[in-house]
Amino acid sequence: MQKACVIGWPIEHSRSPIIHGYWLNKYSIDGSYKKHAVKPSELTTFLQTLDENGFCGCNVTIPHKENVFNQIIVTDPVTIEIGAVNTVFIENGKLYGLNTDGYGFLSNLKSITNWNSAEKACAVIGAGGAARGIIAALKNDGLKTISVFNRTFAKAEKLATEFGPSVQAKRFDDLAGFLSETDLLVNTSSLGMIGQPPLELSLHNLPSHACVADIVYDPLETELLRHAKKNGNKVVDGLGMLLHQAVPGFEKWFGIRPEVTPELRDLIVADLQKEKVL
Ligand code: NAP
Repeated sequence: MQKACVIGWPIEHSRSPIIHGYWLNKYSIDGSYKKHAVKPSELTTFLQTLDENGFCGCNVTIPHKENVFNQIIVTDPVTIEIGAVNTVFIENGKLYGLNTDGYGFLSNLKSITNWNSAEKACAVIGAGGAARGIIAALKNDGLKTISVFNRTFAKAEKLATEFGPSVQAKRFDDLAGFLSETDLLVNTSSLGMIGQPPLELSLHNLPSHACVADIVYDPLETELLRHAKKNGNKVVDGLGMLLHQAVPGFEKWFGIRPEVTPELRDLIVADLQKEKVL
């Protein structure tokens, strides 16, 4: 039996077991995927014994993504740019790492819109861990310019310096005025998430052809997406990214490239709603 898991500290909140459990069942695979709480002090030993403990790999979540990156082999250029790993797999007894967050974002965007990055301009709100993954994937997909608007300007500047001339740091307060030049607006900040302040932004200047994506998925329809719909823009919610980022790991561990289905999406939506009733 093939065994995989997701590690983090804490780990209770992870919905990855629902996603991988659904695919294991759908494809009748004799495998398992469980949550595994790993303290930061236990991470190195966990990785060193992954193979001998019978695992074929794992997903990695907060706070381990950067530490795992520093401890295993990474050959994928996008993951090297991101500097953090969310998927570990074993080949010839060695541990390899990938970051599939940006892939998940882009793959979802392309699956529900006719997005083509060539010659396009994107505005990214936020400069945290999720922004890094998305910026790396968009840059690699050929976007012309990626403008990063972050509350802490220095963090946007740091990203722009690291990612090179197509990525530019902008002042958060200049965002509304900048929207007229934007083909894709992405919120990667935690604004709009349940328990956080809303993202208050006038979309008046945003062209009607522009896409608006929010990677926050609780609530599924954020205020940003509600406004964008009213403004006539195509909208992309954050749940699709969560589902699509899981695809490469499942394929590495269990040998089948799984499909993101409406039924899988419904399972996670039901789980999000269950939490609110409890
Ligand atoms: P992070 O590294 O902690 O970054 C948080 C970002 O939000 C920073 O840019 C921060 O700005 C900004 N921010 C937080 N509070 C703010 C406020 N009050 N006003 C303005 N900006 C604020 O977090 P992350 O890992 O990137 O995650 C960010 C969001 O993405 C979370 O809601 C997370 O749930 C979601 N996410 C979704 C997926 C998915 O699969 N859909 C995957 C990963 C993350 P400063 O730099 O100024 O602090």
